[in-house]
Amino acid sequence: MPLPLSVGEKVKMKKKHPCGGDVFTLQRVGADIRASCDTCGSHIRMPRRDFEKRIKKIEGAEVDSSPDRGKELEKGAD
Ligand SMILES: [Zn+2]
Repeated sequence: MPLPLSVGEKVKMKKKHPCGGDVFTLQRVGADIRASCDTCGSHIRMPRRDFEKRIKKIEGAEVDSSPDRGKELEKGAD
């Protein structure tokens, strides 16, 4: 089941980045996810299904209270 990821959201990952940070900001959401580490600023990229498996928590996204689906996902077209 795809997670409701949107560009600009912060996610906490199960596995820490080598720098010690575990919060990433989504830069691009498509078949691949690109995100930047909030701690060191470096970028990571991986297939969305792999990325979703590694997410521990979506910060700033209301996943538990609102069933509202008005959010649109940005989809890269290249
Ligand atoms: Zn980092």
